[in-house]
Amino acid sequence: LQFSKPNLSQLKIESMESCIKRAVSIMETEIDRNGHELHVHYSEHSVFVNVEKDKIVQVLVNVLKNAVDAMDEVGKIGIRVNRNDNFVSIEVSDTGFGMSEVTKAKIFEPFFTTKGHGTGLGLSISHKIIQDHGGRLEVVRTGPQGTVFSVMLPVVSATE
Ligand code: ADP
Ligand code: MG
Repeated sequence: LQFSKPNLSQLKIESMESCIKRAVSIMETEIDRNGHELHVHYSEHSVFVNVEKDKIVQVLVNVLKNAVDAMDEVGKIGIRVNRNDNFVSIEVSDTGFGMSEVTKAKIFEPFFTTKGHGTGLGLSISHKIIQDHGGRLEVVRTGPQGTVFSVMLPVVSATE
């Protein structure tokens, strides 16, 4: 995997864990209120990323909110952190209704929404934020059993 250089000025080294904890604290009331289970798996060792923390939190909140919106019945949301050599992926899974191929092809377009009261801005903004950080935001898989999104970011190596 090749990442381009980040295109941001307010970068700070943050642990991935602290970004996820902040996003979860923002979303957990809504997740609980709907009766969903949330499972978070951090990687064994801390992973550090060079980011604008508020923006990464905004992306994670967007993806978590979409997961909640995709579940008509009580379901499960998972967050899993996987560290590779030069990047970290945060996979956010839900047990919701998924999306069609036609929908999947449009989700990063500004104002595209399938919701009655959606703005369709969450994923287009999130995509831009992750790109600006030299990372990638992708759908890993989607179907009637649910959806998995992946947020990938370059990691700060020990020698940096
Ligand atoms: P909004 O949430 O306002 O609709 P987004 O940009 O966040 O806008 O999402 C765009 C569309 O992508 C949603 O309307 C929905 O159709 C689809 N989508 C995003 N996340 C999921 C998900 N986890 N499960 C099913 N569909 C999703
Ligand atoms: Mg949204």
